[in-house]
Order: sequence, then C-alpha cells, then structure tokens
Amino acid sequence: MRTIPHWINGAPVEGGSDTIDVLDPATDQPVATVPMADAATVDAAIAAAANAFDSWAATALSKRAQVLYRFRELLLANRSELAAMITEEHGKTLDDAAGEISRAADSVELACGGPALARGGTSLQTGPNIDTKSVLHPLGVCVGITPFNFPAMMGMMMVSVALAAGNTFVWKPSEQDPGVCLRIAELFREAGLPDGVLNVVHGRQDTVEQLIDSPDTEAVSFVGSSKVAHIVYSRAAAAGKRVQAFGGAKNHMIVMPDADLDVVADQLTSACFGAAGQRCMAISVAVVVGDTAEPLLEKLVGRARQVRLGAGDAPDTEVGPVINRQSQQRIQAAVKEAVAAGARAVVDRSAEVVPGHEGGYFIGPTVLADVDVSSPAYQEELFGPVLVVMRVDSLNDGLALIANHRYGNGASIFTRDGAAANEFERRASAGMVGINVAIPVPVAAYAVQGWKDSAYGDTGLNNASWSFYTRPKYVTSRWDSVAGTDFGFRPN
Ligand code: NAD
Repeated sequence: MRTIPHWINGAPVEGGSDTIDVLDPATDQPVATVPMADAATVDAAIAAAANAFDSWAATALSKRAQVLYRFRELLLANRSELAAMITEEHGKTLDDAAGEISRAADSVELACGGPALARGGTSLQTGPNIDTKSVLHPLGVCVGITPFNFPAMMGMMMVSVALAAGNTFVWKPSEQDPGVCLRIAELFREAGLPDGVLNVVHGRQDTVEQLIDSPDTEAVSFVGSSKVAHIVYSRAAAAGKRVQAFGGAKNHMIVMPDADLDVVADQLTSACFGAAGQRCMAISVAVVVGDTAEPLLEKLVGRARQVRLGAGDAPDTEVGPVINRQSQQRIQAAVKEAVAAGARAVVDRSAEVVPGHEGGYFIGPTVLADVDVSSPAYQEELFGPVLVVMRVDSLNDGLALIANHRYGNGASIFTRDGAAANEFERRASAGMVGINVAIPVPVAAYAVQGWKDSAYGDTGLNNASWSFYTRPKYVTSRWDSVAGTDFGFRPN
C-alpha cells in the first residue's frame, strides 16, 4: 500500500502523530496511508516556507512565471496519471478527474500572467514635484486548506497566484484524498520551484489550528463546509490574519415556463448527478415557474433512471460513489426523512448497490418533489446526487426562495426571455449566476466567490485573489532640484 508523505523543503517527510487509511470509495478498501502531522512537522513546514520567502520574493517576476509555465505543461502532460490518483481516492470518473486537472491548469495559466498582474499604479504631480504610486508586495507565508471534492483544483486556485505574487505556501489538503497533492508538489519541483516555496502537510483540526496560529503565517485561504469555514475565518481573523473562507452551497436553477424542457432535463441530469453531486456548484434545487413541473419530472425520471452508477475507473460509469460511508448514510437518511415528512420520491436510487462493488459508498440519482421548504432536504447541503424539484407561481417567488436560503454560491435560470434573464441576473442573491448555463463557474480571469454563508471574507479565488495575496504600499515622493546639482537639465 502507498504511503502519502508530507512534503517539506522539497522532499517527502513521513513523520507524524499517527496514520490514517485512505479508502477507495468504490470498494471501501484502503489504497494508501497518510501520516497526520505532529506539531514538530507543522513547525518544520512553516519554517521551510518562512526561510524560502526572501529569496523567492526577490526572484524576478518573469522567472517565477517561467516556473509556473513549466509546471502547467507538466500538469497537462501527466493528466492521466493524476486523474487516476484522484479517481482511486475520491471516486469520481476518470473523465471528470481529467477535467479537474484541466481546470487546475487554467488557474496556473492565469498565474503565468503574474508579470502583468503585479503592476501597481502611479500618479504624476500629485503636488509640486510630488508623485504618488502604489506597489504590490507579497505577504510571506500563506496557508491553504482544501476540501476533498476537488483535491487538485482548489489547491491550484490558491497556490498558483500566491506563488506568482512571490509568497511561499503551506498546503493542508483533505486527508480523504491527498495523493494527488503530493504528486503536484513533486511536479512543481521538477518545474524548477525552489525548495521550501511550496510545502504540504496532512492533518486534522489541530494541524489547521497550528497553521493558523503560527506567528509566521500571514494569510489563510480555506475551502470546505460552511461550518468549518466559519471556524477557520473566526480563528484567523481573531489572530489578525488575512483570511478568505469559502463554504457550502445549495444552488437553485429557475426553470421558466418558456424553457426547452429537454435541454433543462439534460442540464439538470449532469449538473445535479454529475460527480455524485459533490460539486460546490452542483444544482441541487430546480425551481419550476408555472405549470411545467410535471412534464419536466417525467423527462427527469427517464434520465435519472438511465444514469450508469459504478466505479469511477469503469469505462461506462457516469456517476461514481460519494466520498465515505458517513456521507452515504447521511444522504440516505435525509431522503428517508424527507419522504416520511411527505415528499414524493419521483426516482429513488439512494439505496442502490453496484454489483461487484457491494462495499462501495454508492448513491444513485434521486429526485424528490413536494419537499417542504423547512425540510433538511431543502435547507441543508446534501452533497450527493439528490435533486429537489420545487414549484412556484412566478419568477419573484423563485427569486425569494434563493434570497431566503442561507447559501448563495451559484444560481441559474433557463429561459428564452431576455427580460426575465436580466431580472434574474440583477436580483439573484448568489455570487455566481448562470443564464442558460447550469454550472456558471467563471473562467479563471474572473473569480470563484459565493455570497452569504457560502463565503466569509471579501476576496474571491483565481484572478480576484491577486489582491488577497499581495498588500499595497503607497509611496509619495518629492524631488526638488537643489541649486548647483541639476546638471543643467531644468529650464531655470
Ligand atoms: P470539510 O469542511 O469537512 O473539510 C475541509 C478541510 O477542512 C479539510 O482539509 C479538512 O481536513 C479540514 N477540517 C475539517 N474539520 C476541521 C475543523 N474542525 N477545523 C479545521 N479544519 C478542519 O469539507 P469537505 O467535506 O472536505 O468538502 C466539502 C465541502 O466543501 C462542501 O460543503 C462544499 O460545498 C465545499 N466546497 C466549497 C467550494 C466553494 O468554492 N465555495 C468549493 C469546493 C467545495
């Protein structure tokens, strides 16, 4: 069985207080062990990042960008191997995992533009012989804590820009699928990243707390559940750290009466059931305006029943398992509870067993209608392939549902009416909205950023994080000529 070590100062390190098994969600069998860092290991990672900072910050911007260019090439050249690692530990299909690596490469590509992003600004003659300029400094040691569902991509959304800006980094990936992160650290070294600039430590709550509390840590980026995002945000803010913390979601799609129901059913099938519903931008609520709920449900039934459930590495699988037994049981219980409270299980594959993979954590596509808004199946993020279909009378009512939900990560609308689309765009209370696009994750040149309980802090990931990972300095300078020293270059 593989061991997935920490990565400190450009080398694997195996120390730790204990180890845990990384399980293949399709089989419930261990595929690797991972050490949980003890305090000395965390200290060593932070010290490596702190020691590497001065030299990396002083490295020419173009040299830093060249490392990122080479790393991006390596990421793409090794895409199949990296995808197989993700599939083995996370469970998603190989195609989906390869797509994750491509999205990770998009974030790196953005950071390759560091030399352009690093520009400050200057105003001339803000007073007599006075100029004022702003320059962007790196922060120092930055810490990133990432979730299981995108083990490569979320880390790359943080690390790429942080490094391009001249910071050094300690990455604490999810302990449930950390293998790909180590491979990424190795590829960075192969790309020429100096030792200590990127370090990886594995651990749980105590590791995260130590990373946040360290006096050497300047900034903390977190992605995961809202409960933990809030804990991390509060702790880091209380310690005076710069912090951005992204949390959970319950993304609504409004279906207007004029929408093409075949297109909507196809989009919902992939946006809700794809990746077993374990995307922060997955659609988990369809809000049907008017009388088309029943015809849409009919179309969804056919599609939800046909989706092929199986191990992520089987060639015909469309939906793999969820991440662990607790998730599987939590989702099954939420479906049962909703049905017991009066919801209609239009399709219920939540207890489906995959032949040959009886121990796997599978949940088949499930569609619930007539769900009460107070039900946990509507209020909570299930993070599984369960679609709740609601019916409302008007776009206003649909927008009110979105407004009243605690989460505000993404929302979308399907319509042929430009006025309805504009109204939705203006009023939907979510950070990322889609118009005839089910999963509106913006390209890396924009930002990933939710609203309400989906994000604490005010700077998004990707392009927006350039300001998070730099601090401006404002310089006001005055140069008057001194008699006899102007070498004749002034008119008088
Ligand atoms: P999680 O909150 O359980 O774990 C996230 C990270 O925090 C992991 O590295 C974990 O080890 C660590 N952690 C767990 N408990 C902790 C604690 N008490 N103190 C400190 N650290 C702790 O989340 P997860 O289950 O790995 O990921 C799924 C969640 O992530 C979902 O809610 C999903 O919506 C969210 N997510 C959000 C976005 C976004 O952009 N908003 C993107 C991806 C995932």
